[in-house]
Amino acid sequence: MKVHFFICRSESLTVTGLFCLPRVGISSILQVLLFGYSFIMKSSKEAVQAAAKEFLTFVNKGVSPYHVVEECESRLLKAGFTELKEAEHWDIKPASKYFVTRNYSTIIAFAVGGLYKPGNGFSMIGAHTDSPCLRVKPRSKKTKLGFLQVGVECYGGGIWNTWFDRDLTIAGRVMVKSEGKLVQRLVHVPRPILRIPHLAIHLQRDINDSFGPNKENHLAPLLATAIQEELETGSASCGDACNATCIAEKHHPPLVQMLCGQLGVEPNALRDFDLCLADTQPGALGGVYEEFIFSPRLDNLHSCFCALTALMDSSTPDSLAKDPNIRMVTLYDHEEVGSESAQGAQSNLTEMILQRLASTPDNLTAFQEAVPLSYIISADMAHAAHPNYQEKHEENHRPAFHKGPVIKFNSNQRYATNGVTAAILREIAGIVSVPLQDVMVRNDSPCGTTIGPILAARLGMAVLDLGAPQLAMHSIREMCCTSGVLQTTTLFKGFFEHFPFVRSTVDVD
Ligand SMILES: [Zn+2]
Repeated sequence: MKVHFFICRSESLTVTGLFCLPRVGISSILQVLLFGYSFIMKSSKEAVQAAAKEFLTFVNKGVSPYHVVEECESRLLKAGFTELKEAEHWDIKPASKYFVTRNYSTIIAFAVGGLYKPGNGFSMIGAHTDSPCLRVKPRSKKTKLGFLQVGVECYGGGIWNTWFDRDLTIAGRVMVKSEGKLVQRLVHVPRPILRIPHLAIHLQRDINDSFGPNKENHLAPLLATAIQEELETGSASCGDACNATCIAEKHHPPLVQMLCGQLGVEPNALRDFDLCLADTQPGALGGVYEEFIFSPRLDNLHSCFCALTALMDSSTPDSLAKDPNIRMVTLYDHEEVGSESAQGAQSNLTEMILQRLASTPDNLTAFQEAVPLSYIISADMAHAAHPNYQEKHEENHRPAFHKGPVIKFNSNQRYATNGVTAAILREIAGIVSVPLQDVMVRNDSPCGTTIGPILAARLGMAVLDLGAPQLAMHSIREMCCTSGVLQTTTLFKGFFEHFPFVRSTVDVD
């Protein structure tokens, strides 16, 4: 029954039909059907995998929020978007495309419809550039039992035991003083330089019953041994970070030299930094049919990629010429720690930009008129039902791989979806033939949250929470299905193209 449904409904999901079929017991009718559709299945599997591979390129480059913004910026520039600066005056034209960054960790891109006039709506998709990770402390030098270690801080709610025994590196932003100016330089060391080793099972027999590291004592990665450092450099790292007065003394010299080597600067040019630890193993396709994506940072670079791609792909001259709205993608930093920062979703950034775009001397209430005509998809990954923990999922709300993006519901407003916003998105999904799933948590289960309720409260706009299904959220290496990328991108593209019309059919307020 499901196979029939999939084949009829969606090109990308014809692949699903193939995956879902049991090896035995396919009726002859189905075999004929499948044979007839084999070309579609083949081509759609190619399309699914092409989209998934493009996402892998994106996620492998997005090793820190700064690198995510850099990659988005480079894609937007290639697609004909113009960079704006918050501090400058903007002269926005219809049928044109722009982007702006704040702190270089949040990026907002938008395409102005050819029919846009102040007071018209905003068609928006929001996501986040940050992921849980370990970050280098401002004074990181530690030496214990002859090991040079790096002090790290836990950022967000990671599953920290997954950071053990991984080949780790460092990536992020360094502030450098150069020719009298303080400039930002991005850095990414492309080889494994750090490791957090497990304690052998012989010394902790109960590790398989429960393993949670002490976040201060057990997560400091090893950088080198003091003895090897002495052999290489003639002297061992000494002095304590506590009393250090310059950046070169706050961290082990080989770490400082490695950063300087990457940046091509002298140690005395370093000022401060925002450095993340990252896994060196690139994201990859997986599973016997290559239907999975095994990757770091699926939450939430998957949504960032799909939103950005949909904005760029949908904003062709033809499509934009007919649009009365502004299409916008907002990718925020700091979602994983509550969004309360100058560049987070709780900041004034979104409202300031929307006010700026709607402002006109002829109509002083243009922004207020735009609010009820606008709509935000809060795009963040959803939990697929885990086959080994079925009891953790509400019995009628169990998102599965390949069956489409998941609308998230929680009437306690952990998610912002309501009947109106869900009905609007289902109309759009129907037009572009993307299947949707619904999720809500059990009443006896905790529930995550997103930027959705924050944006709904701050802006007073209609918001829907949605994301592609994934497993192992907040592990250093997560897992999702390949078809989620194409399905989500297709849905988002359909949203930009069809929202103004669908909104015009809604009669609520
Ligand atoms: Zn997230």
